[in-house]
Amino acid sequence: MSGKDLAAEMNKEMQVMVDKLRSKGVTPGLAVLLVGEDPASQTYVRNKEKRAKSLGFYSVVERYSEEISEKEILKEIKRFNQDDAIHGILIQLPLPKQIDPKKVLNAVNPKKDVDGFHPVNMGKLLIGEPDKIACTPYGIMKLLENHKIEIAGKTAVVIGRSNIVGKPMAQLLLMNDATVTMAHSKTNHLAEIAKTADILVVAIGKGHLVTKDFIKPGAVVIDVGMNRDANGKLIGDVKADEVAEVAGYLTPVPGGVGPMTITMLLYQTIISAQRTI
Ligand code: NAD
Repeated sequence: MSGKDLAAEMNKEMQVMVDKLRSKGVTPGLAVLLVGEDPASQTYVRNKEKRAKSLGFYSVVERYSEEISEKEILKEIKRFNQDDAIHGILIQLPLPKQIDPKKVLNAVNPKKDVDGFHPVNMGKLLIGEPDKIACTPYGIMKLLENHKIEIAGKTAVVIGRSNIVGKPMAQLLLMNDATVTMAHSKTNHLAEIAKTADILVVAIGKGHLVTKDFIKPGAVVIDVGMNRDANGKLIGDVKADEVAEVAGYLTPVPGGVGPMTITMLLYQTIISAQRTI
């Protein structure tokens, strides 16, 4: 199940959307706030900027020193909230210790919260009226839809309960009428529970934890994990070679969920821009 292919396909559709908006005098604007020098964050931000620019976005990347105060960063968010040229604001995580990520994420105008992390947007998702949706689970839903995977009535298991992946993922599957189990670090009999899944989403952050013993034959397996092995190679949470023999579908790492996450970020920025006209 290639996220790279679907991202390329969606990119074409998004290009049409951007061109149409620009012909009406609106250029989608994305502001990315990056604090400090974390190398992984630098790479993520560069990729986002590259993709945004290639679509013809107005792209702003503000880089701040590791020492910036919480007050100062909150002031910067306010500036972008008030800037009509900006339709999406993204705060690259992690943030340094002196800054409370909750305060910062809560300060973003929910209408510009293209990451879908604001409590208002999380709450809307919980009551089944989603607006901005966390990009990784949203991208996974697009992948399932694109492959015509039936969700209603299916048994889904989500391993991992983070606010940015596991929880919104479980909620989206539930909204689409799956019967959902959430598993996490304190779950007993993890493999046994995972093996009940027609759709298994793994978002743990532990390389190759999920083996073929976790998989129901023919299951759809979504590997969100991004880990480095001893040689520095990027690997998923799923032991892909052996799981591929049992699963019906499997997303690769890299080239699966990752490209869809950036795609949904840009997509939600375009939708925000559309709403201004
Ligand atoms: P997190 O650390 O916030 O949460 C991890 C979750 O896994 C926790 O809820 C924890 O309970 C669970 N967990 C930990 N060890 C476990 C175990 N042994 N058994 C069962 N559950 C266990 O992580 P996150 O932000 O949700 O990210 C998870 C992974 O997904 C990471 O590898 C991250 O890099 C990756 N990720 C990828 C993308 C992408 O676009 N591809 C986006 C976000 C996160």
